[in-house]
Amino acid sequence: MGYFVIDRVIGIGIITALVIILLLLIYFIVKYRAVIHAKALADVVNQKTLEHCRELESNYNTSVNSVNDLTVKCEELNKNKESMKKMAYTDYLTELPNRASFTEMLDNIMITLRNEEIIAIMDIDIDNFKNINDTLGHSYGDELLIDVTYRLKQAMDENDYLARIGGDEFIVLSQNLTDMMDFEDKIRKIKNVFSYPFVLSTKEYFVTVSIGVAFAPKDGKTSQTLIKNVDSAMYVAKANGKNTHVYFEYAFNQKLTEKIETQSELRKALERNEFVLFYQAQMNLETKKVVGFEALIRWNHATKGLVFPDEFISVAEETGLIVPIGKWVLKTACIQLKQWSEEYPEVTMAVNLSARQFKDRDIVKLVCDVIEETGIDPRKLELEITETIALDDIEYTVSTIQELRKIGVNFSLDDFGTGYSSMNYLKRLPVSNLKIDKSFLNTVMMDKSDQKIIQTIINLARNLDLLVIAEGVESFEQEIFLKEANCDKAQGYLYSKAVPKEKAILFLKSLETPASVQ
Ligand code: C2E
Ligand code: CA
Ligand code: CA
Repeated sequence: MGYFVIDRVIGIGIITALVIILLLLIYFIVKYRAVIHAKALADVVNQKTLEHCRELESNYNTSVNSVNDLTVKCEELNKNKESMKKMAYTDYLTELPNRASFTEMLDNIMITLRNEEIIAIMDIDIDNFKNINDTLGHSYGDELLIDVTYRLKQAMDENDYLARIGGDEFIVLSQNLTDMMDFEDKIRKIKNVFSYPFVLSTKEYFVTVSIGVAFAPKDGKTSQTLIKNVDSAMYVAKANGKNTHVYFEYAFNQKLTEKIETQSELRKALERNEFVLFYQAQMNLETKKVVGFEALIRWNHATKGLVFPDEFISVAEETGLIVPIGKWVLKTACIQLKQWSEEYPEVTMAVNLSARQFKDRDIVKLVCDVIEETGIDPRKLELEITETIALDDIEYTVSTIQELRKIGVNFSLDDFGTGYSSMNYLKRLPVSNLKIDKSFLNTVMMDKSDQKIIQTIINLARNLDLLVIAEGVESFEQEIFLKEANCDKAQGYLYSKAVPKEKAILFLKSLETPASVQ
């Protein structure tokens, strides 16, 4: 019994031990598998994290590259923006600031200008620049502008700002002035740089400038007013005969208002039939007989009375009204010529053509139409153009004159000696008459060199088979001199002023010198 109990206890102990061992075994197996599983899981996670990291790194690198690309592009854009701004504010030829730059600069100055401060603006315009461009070509014109810039820069100091605001127009803006009178020195300095010639195409050319001057705040409180006023001053300098400087005055604006009034009145004048032609006799110096007339326009103004062409032709030219006015002149003069020629078939009629009229591409047709309508002999019509107009576009001038010469119309070169007077061009122009300008006649009896000039012009005309007519003959001494110099015709107050048609016909009727019928 005792052994039996002992055996059972031992048996239970062994079984218990076995169970415990089994449980432990199961525990370790489960744990081991869990560890293995966890490790496998961790490996997977690590792998994924690594992949993510790589992906992130590659994304990061791509972003960095993109940022770098963008920075480069941004720099390029900024550079382009800078150079575009520079281009927009710089004159390509002279590399000076341009009009936009000057206006912006002046705007800024005017906004902050204090009462006690004075600034000055000078508008410098090269005289007859177009002649240089037309006769020498644009590349020499450009060269001249560059040379002018270089010289102007030498006359500048630290308070000055130089800009090119138009083809042949420069601006000098001067700040910190204490006295307006001091500015005379600056103007003198600028004029001095033009006192010696410019060398273009191996030849020397003297260049002059017209200068307008305005001060702020005296002549304008805003940049717009100041620019407008300095421009007016420059135009007055041009009108005063160029090569001079003019300070702005408020009266200029009054003149401008008058000009605008003239413009609007001119428009109505043609409809209201207010224009009238006067005729000035032209004498044959040999026979002392009237051989023709020059038609000169007058304006019968309702309140001002008889207005002379110098007061309105330039305004008509600017507005383009000269084209219909000129058409009226041509037609009226031709109707008159036709009437007179019935009885005096040799009489000629000279008609002035303005620049705009001559350049109007319809001029040949207009002249042909008028000749046909009025039935005149085209050989008795003389069209007068000035040298300046003729040389403006020489090819066009030559071909237009040639076309009209084909039907017999003659051309005269008016005011000869006052313009460019290029002898080379004269050879090319198919004109028939040279009209020596009256400015030579004014001084011819006192000035021996003017006598030589007239003699030279006459000799030259002879060589080119041209007839010479002197205008502005006022004295017998002048007449004798011209006759001896072999001049063909004369026109001037000595014989007659321009008179209405009723009076002009008397010269023809009496066949006397006009002076005796005045
Ligand atoms: P222009 O063609 O040179 O005409 C000559 C001018 O000199 C005329 O002035 C004439 O009256 C003036 N004159 C003539 N003889 C003498 C003289 O002995 N002494 C002086 N001191 N002057 C004299 P006007 O009629 O006032 O004409 C001035 C300018 O107006 C003309 O100069 C011409 O350029 C222009 N003009 C006149 N009529 C017309 C026209 O129908 N059409 C165009 N486009 N222009 C015209
Ligand atoms: Ca004339
Ligand atoms: Ca003339």
